[in-house]
Amino acid sequence: MRITALAGGVGGARFLRGLRAHLNRTPALSDSTITVIGNTGDDITLFGLRVCPDLDTVMYTLGGGINEEQGWGRADETQSVQGELAAYGAVPQWFGLGDRDFGTHIARSQWLGQGLSLSEVTARLCDRWGLPDQGVRLLPMSDSPVETHVVIDSEDGGGDGDGAGGGPQRAVHFQEWWVRMRAAVPARKFIAVGMDRATAAPGVLDAIREADIILLPPSNPVVSIGIILGVPGVRDALRGSVAPVVGVSPLIGGAPVRGHADACLTAIGVECTAQAVAGLYADFLDGWLVDDLDEPGIGFPPRLEVQARPLWMNDLETTADIAGAAVDLALKLRRTPSV
Ligand code: GDP
Ligand code: CA
Repeated sequence: MRITALAGGVGGARFLRGLRAHLNRTPALSDSTITVIGNTGDDITLFGLRVCPDLDTVMYTLGGGINEEQGWGRADETQSVQGELAAYGAVPQWFGLGDRDFGTHIARSQWLGQGLSLSEVTARLCDRWGLPDQGVRLLPMSDSPVETHVVIDSEDGGGDGDGAGGGPQRAVHFQEWWVRMRAAVPARKFIAVGMDRATAAPGVLDAIREADIILLPPSNPVVSIGIILGVPGVRDALRGSVAPVVGVSPLIGGAPVRGHADACLTAIGVECTAQAVAGLYADFLDGWLVDDLDEPGIGFPPRLEVQARPLWMNDLETTADIAGAAVDLALKLRRTPSV
């Protein structure tokens, strides 16, 4: 079976690892392949290096190199390079990059500099982590640089703004808002800079069109899934897909499990509920897993098949069960297409 999934960072990566585990333990599905369309809106250039946090989180998690406690970055990490940069006064210091992780960004930047596309570079990096051997293909959503920026009130956000705006609002890179400001400053708007010139990376639209089932892991609906949906052609391909699209709610009891999805939803004027998040996908979503705490049946888009179950991705086993429930729902919807 061909499975296509859209994914951000930690939530997406954990779900995908559970999905692989579920497929491996299910003989009828063990030879299934997974194509992951990864968010690159979080990408940033730091110290001259191209950093792709969400792609790397997926790669390290599936490849067994992730820092489990953090959910991002490498296991057994050291900070010598960052310490040296700090000693020189090189900034920013608010974005944590470990020494092993630096290796990834140096290799990526070198290959990009030699003219390889981000898709080609990502495939090379994933080879090292054995993703192809697991039947997993990680595709960046686009090979063109797209960066999510956050519009905030200019008096917010500490004293080291660039002062360029002069007006009542200014835009900062998503990472500055998320990591340095911890999303505590109200976001007024998200802008996907470069999206107007972006096209879907090779294989992305085909992966949606040719999938047997399509899954939306519990990734951030605004700055992970929402950004991917903004890539020209992606949303249309999902709407037109014959394969059922099943999503997993990133909210439990109307709150994000980790991260600041609530602040992101507020910025776009959407309630922080499993119903409202489903509403963001209403034009293409067929099935939706919500947590038991989120009252199935009330306020969901019409014709959406909603199932409630525990959605805490506590460990690999429970995550595999969640992924299994998503796959089963998709297979059920595949057999009973809506009219
Ligand atoms: P990021 O790019 O690292 O922020 O990761 P994603 O966008 O892929 O996922 C972030 C989302 O994952 C957040 O909105 C969380 O609410 C959600 N999430 C994290 N852990 C869990 C979990 O155990 N269960 C569910 N249902 N959602 C989770
Ligand atoms: Ca992210």
